Amino acid sequence: MSKFESLLDRVAGSDAPDMADILALLNASGAQTQALYRRADDIRRARMGDGILLRAIVEFSSRCSRDCAYCGLRKAHRQLKRYRMNTAEILASVLEAASSGIKTVVLQSGEDDTLDPFWLADVIRAIKSGTQMAVTLSVGEKPQEVYALWRGAGADRYLLKIETTNPSLYRRLHPDMDFDRRLECLRVLRELGYQTGSGSIVGLPGQTAEDLTQDILFFKRCDFDMIGIGPFIAHPDTPLGLEGDGDIQAVLKVLAVTRIVVNNAHMPATTAVGSLEEDHRLAALKSGANVLMPNFTPQPYRQAYEIYPHKRCLTETSGACVPCMETMASAIGRCVNYSRGDSLKIKV
Ligand code: SAH
Repeated sequence: MSKFESLLDRVAGSDAPDMADILALLNASGAQTQALYRRADDIRRARMGDGILLRAIVEFSSRCSRDCAYCGLRKAHRQLKRYRMNTAEILASVLEAASSGIKTVVLQSGEDDTLDPFWLADVIRAIKSGTQMAVTLSVGEKPQEVYALWRGAGADRYLLKIETTNPSLYRRLHPDMDFDRRLECLRVLRELGYQTGSGSIVGLPGQTAEDLTQDILFFKRCDFDMIGIGPFIAHPDTPLGLEGDGDIQAVLKVLAVTRIVVNNAHMPATTAVGSLEEDHRLAALKSGANVLMPNFTPQPYRQAYEIYPHKRCLTETSGACVPCMETMASAIGRCVNYSRGDSLKIKV
């Protein structure tokens, strides 16, 4: 067996893999890279199956109170058109997703300090009483009481990406936020019984391979139910607008090594992976990912939710994503799985 294959065996078989081993996998080149992707794909098939889960995303508000250096929704981006969908609009989008056969909706927005938690609790209750949908929230850092309120209203899951586990890089990118508070939010979410997702951005200016290694070890230690990994995409109206985009091979490697290390988390082929010059979501699905996220944000809001530029499917109408995803799945000999796709780690 080649040295690289035994390295893969060692990392796949360990509960606390060695930092040097992970770094060596991230440094794979040439034929090693293909062996890395193949191993991640084998582990994905064995643990998660061949079905590709669909999570409908509804980007219900572009309002944001934070100033993340990379994000187009940052509050300093004053030209951005801000919107918040009303309850009826959100429910219509969720019903449209439900009628496509989808059983999970992700409600995402900027981190809006003026968002009324009781209003969102009512929206969650309306979705839960009118549909069979699992509800996932992705609305940023909130006090424990608010997370508890939403959980009580029926929210099942929460996504809060750590973005980077390097505390000094985190501080530089998030001038008005606190790394420890984000960790604390993730702890509280798990304690409240949310299926919890985190994740990272790959290719952030100043980020090193050691940082990416620490991100993967963090995902392993926290045993997240879901892990989203995507490239940094430079937004011209942010302080990082002149930086280069993240490298797709680096993203695919982090994805593959994460699948090998944390074998049982749900991992999307993110929209960001699909929004570089080419769409790389098929490559992500062949390197460990098992989830796609069709966009059900209606126009004109969809175009206003500009986290990064050239976002995939920006001008399409809601519902167009699902047939496209069916085609993507069959192109790689897989199929779409229309189940809720709960965490493998919990009994629901
Ligand atoms: N406000 C919410 C999530 C909304 S943004 C929160 O705080 O959790 C959703 C995700 O988009 C972020 O977690 C971040 O990882 C990603 N993102 C934002 N700007 C990006 C950029 N320029 N390139 C790549 N990913 C970006």
